Amino acid sequence: MSVKNKLSKVILSTAIGFATTMGSSVASADQSYVTIGTGGQTGVYYVVGQSMCRLINRATDDHGIKCTAPSTGGSVANINAIRQGQLDLGVAQSDWQYYALNGTKHESFIQQGKFEDLRALFSIHSEPFTVVARADSGVKTFDDLAGKRVNLNNPGSGTRGTMEVIMAEKGWTRDSFKLAAELKSSEQSQALCDNKLDVILSNVGHPSGIIKEATTSCDTKIIPVTGPEIDKLIAENDFYASAVIKGGLYKGNDTDVDTFGNAATMVTSSKVDADTAYQIVKSVFDNFERFKRLHPAFANLDPRKMISDGLSAPLHEGAVRYYKEKGWM
Ligand code: GLU
Repeated sequence: MSVKNKLSKVILSTAIGFATTMGSSVASADQSYVTIGTGGQTGVYYVVGQSMCRLINRATDDHGIKCTAPSTGGSVANINAIRQGQLDLGVAQSDWQYYALNGTKHESFIQQGKFEDLRALFSIHSEPFTVVARADSGVKTFDDLAGKRVNLNNPGSGTRGTMEVIMAEKGWTRDSFKLAAELKSSEQSQALCDNKLDVILSNVGHPSGIIKEATTSCDTKIIPVTGPEIDKLIAENDFYASAVIKGGLYKGNDTDVDTFGNAATMVTSSKVDADTAYQIVKSVFDNFERFKRLHPAFANLDPRKMISDGLSAPLHEGAVRYYKEKGWM
């Protein structure tokens, strides 16, 4: 991963002889660096990170924070990089936020145990689990994926993780597919339209570049994700809910499609200092109308819901300070 920047805050003041250092890289006086993990470059997470950095960096002269938001492998990779101190913040699916906190479901989370320092900042857009099939693949229902060439997505992505959760419910393994590919989200649409795959998957906000690329480059159908296993996942887990992908968003897909989904959330660690977390949420919510305009998936966001829905980890204390000042808690 090209994520090397750690949060580092160096306050040098010889007058009062005071110096604190967090992280390992050295920054110039009174400046700290924050790195936000996102996802593939054609996804919505990348826009979330870039948008936040844009708002944060507009006020660097005031708060001293500089922000970057590189492309990453997605939710699980972001959470693990935060845990290892390689990222300060990251976008993560609400299901993977929960599983990380509790040390469950993903091999890496089980090995490391509960991630007790995991902190939430806010939730963002909803992410319907989206299945796109080539029109000529014969795939009409989710069960039809068995025996087909399916991109499970790269290990480390939330999509891959959630697909594995569904596969476990359905009793499927990688052998259930003719091909179980592991392409990154940004590579899969072209592979679908080059007829190297029958089906691509993405837990993603809409409209999304990933789905737009696939649906405009070849004939596709968005496939419903429903059935008793999905009902069970929704019934047993607060972070899953039924969802609808609206008809008309994508070429060749004019009717609503039923599926289920999660929320995208912004997470960090309790090791990130409170003033930094405060300034980050302040940059977003003080400029909220501007933030909402940066992607259509943000259009209906409501700040009060963003700090209550879809969050399993405790809110970071710096974020709580800002939300209390606003009277939202
Ligand atoms: N939910 C996806 C993941 O965690 C990323 C979606 C996006 O990039 O917008 O892998």
